[in-house]
Amino acid sequence: MIINDKVKDNSTSAPHVVIIGAGFGGLWAARALADKAVNVTLIDKNNYHTFLALLYQVAAAELEAEQIAYPIRSIFRRQKNIDFILAQVKKINIQKQIIETDGGLIRYDYLIMAAGSVTEAFGIKGVEEHAYFLKTLEQAIALKNHIICCFEAAIHEKNETRRRELLTFVIVGGGATGIEYAGALAELIHGPLIKDYPKISLQDVQIILVEAADNLAAGMPQKVRDYTFKKLSEMGVHVRLNTKVREVTPSRVILHDQNDLLSATVVWTAGVRGDEIAHLSDIKTGRDGRVTVKPTLQAHESSNVYVIGDLAAIRESDRVLPMVAQVAMQSGVAAAKNILRQITGQSPEPFRYNDRGAMITIGRRAAGVSIGNKTFQGFFAWFIWLVIHLFNLIGFRNRVMVLINWAWDYLLYERALRFVFPSCTSSFSPSSYCSRTSDTRSKIIK
Ligand SMILES: Cc1cc2nc3c(=O)[nH]c(=O)nc-3n(C[C@H](O)[C@H](O)[C@H](O)COP(=O)(O)OP(=O)(O)OC[C@H]3O[C@@H](n4cnc5c(N)ncnc54)[C@H](O)[C@@H]3O)c2cc1C
Repeated sequence: MIINDKVKDNSTSAPHVVIIGAGFGGLWAARALADKAVNVTLIDKNNYHTFLALLYQVAAAELEAEQIAYPIRSIFRRQKNIDFILAQVKKINIQKQIIETDGGLIRYDYLIMAAGSVTEAFGIKGVEEHAYFLKTLEQAIALKNHIICCFEAAIHEKNETRRRELLTFVIVGGGATGIEYAGALAELIHGPLIKDYPKISLQDVQIILVEAADNLAAGMPQKVRDYTFKKLSEMGVHVRLNTKVREVTPSRVILHDQNDLLSATVVWTAGVRGDEIAHLSDIKTGRDGRVTVKPTLQAHESSNVYVIGDLAAIRESDRVLPMVAQVAMQSGVAAAKNILRQITGQSPEPFRYNDRGAMITIGRRAAGVSIGNKTFQGFFAWFIWLVIHLFNLIGFRNRVMVLINWAWDYLLYERALRFVFPSCTSSFSPSSYCSRTSDTRSKIIK
């Protein structure tokens, strides 16, 4: 229990390991410590784990939020040595080995920092205020609601420019998230939404994927990148390479080449940076907010502190490992094992990443997979993607529900989840067309 201004004291003699973050890294670290001779406290600001790899499908009305989330307490129900605390960590005092949370203080013997990453706006004007992000469940729901509200507003809109704004969707960032969302959005609009809004012509709708580099899907083999470009173009997504964003306003994206894109929807997937918790705790971070760790995953500031997953810049040979789920899970397990080694008087071992390949899905029956020096595209790659994601999803019920949704969508070209809910504007919606202003209330729309 946390009591404000009091330190949580573990009365048993077993060392106390605290894990901040129940994402992929934190969860896998906790699992590796289950039933071991340690007391584990897992802290997260949410009481659920989110399967981020399918978040874009929530934002494209394909899956319900609940289907990609799982209550943390249920995961560890049977593990007597693992406790969960719902709290937001504010700061860590490394010298005193105390964590400050919004609910009180927690003392640790060993700490695993697995707080992940946040969206990076690169200081570009208007991004924080006007763009939609795709990093949390709340953001995904807000984006889905906004897309549907744009269509609702567009059917009544008489002003040509305003209508164009409402029906142009700009996604910034041609990495995996941007590509996957562009594909899913194209399928949502070209299928169910166009059927729901027969007065809107497909000619009026534009989906634009903007990428600053000269190719999509950095890090994937060229064959997969070419396939992705071709497939997205066939699906009606306009891909604009070598295009940099200078500013985002509520109704347009201003580009460096002076060309403006009229749009009421900008989805920002251009980058991520390490969560600010390390910086706030005086742990040295790079420009991308990540902590450069020792090969053993320990922080340079303290041998009792391990940093893993997206928050860690893990160097291997001549590269820093990418911010992906496999790195987070494997580094989580490695940090847990090193703590157990430390407790028994052995030296921690360097982390070795086992690269199992990468995959990207573009749409139905279209994906790219790279494993070792082999690449696969099309239906087979899509099938591999589907099986792996289903297998990795936590919870039997979630797997069944996701499978039913996918089958429904695949066979009927339908999306069951096209309601705007919750209906109120939230802080995750930069501009909502669902809420009426006093001047629109008096406007004759029919
Ligand atoms: C939309 C999207 C799609 C992705 N798709 C893929 C994919 O297909 N394949 C892939 O390999 N990777 C994918 N990734 C990347 C992958 O999800 C991350 O690399 C991985 O989640 C990192 O794990 P983590 O444990 O470091 O952080 P996270 O999984 O982000 O977990 C961090 C946890 O810390 C908690 N937290 C943060 N700050 C605090 C605080 N101050 N106090 C308390 N709790 C806190 C958060 O609530 C969260 O639960 C995707 C990411 C996104 C956003």
